[in-house]
Amino acid sequence: MGTIKDNIAHLQAAISETAERVGRNANDVTLLVVTKNRTIEQIQQLLECGEFLLGENRVQEAKPKIPLLPTTLHWHMVGHLQRNKVKDALQLFEIIQSVDSSRLAHEIQKIAEATDRSVEVLVQVNVASEETKFGIPAEETRAFVKELAALPRLRVKGLMTIAPLTEDPEEVRPHFRRLRQIFDTLAAAQIPGVEMRYLSMGMTNDYRVAIEEGANLLRIGSAVFD
Ligand SMILES: *Cc1c(COP(=O)(O)O)cnc(C)c1O
Repeated sequence: MGTIKDNIAHLQAAISETAERVGRNANDVTLLVVTKNRTIEQIQQLLECGEFLLGENRVQEAKPKIPLLPTTLHWHMVGHLQRNKVKDALQLFEIIQSVDSSRLAHEIQKIAEATDRSVEVLVQVNVASEETKFGIPAEETRAFVKELAALPRLRVKGLMTIAPLTEDPEEVRPHFRRLRQIFDTLAAAQIPGVEMRYLSMGMTNDYRVAIEEGANLLRIGSAVFD
């Protein structure tokens, strides 16, 4: 429990220290702050501490909130997206990190076509095969990415996962490692129209392990606001 400013300072120091310890450049690890359940006042306090990518996990919450904040911010959708919310989501978010089904991808394609725009997306992978989680099974990721590559309005920019909630973050290491391997394999495959730029993994409980395993986009809420 600290002020947002103290929390950010601690977090950035921990991110740098972890990256450097494993021989990575701290600048290659981007912090995205998840603002779900936070008030406008809290988000404004955050913005006084610097520039951050921001994330919300529900369109219903983001829709009234985002217009109250500066228009220069960059918002990512990080939660499960229902097809009937795609139209709103494309107006609110710069990147949809949570593309988790063929039907959703085709709906995004349809709305993007109708509004004459393209949409950056990440593929959400259920790397630990949890029944309660959304996401593409790890072994189907490559086929799914190829399917999205054929949708002209979608620009695949990487992979995202939500690790199982565990007491010991070491338990999620194999899952992060597996996603990193899939990410590297897809990058090497050079699928036309696909850029493996973002490997989005790591939250408050497991971001250090995620950095060690190659994450370049962390999604963090509690460690910033609580
Ligand atoms: C809430 C949320 C986060 C941040 O979780 P914390 O544990 O609060 O850091 C990250 N990703 C997604 C998809 C979330 O919904």
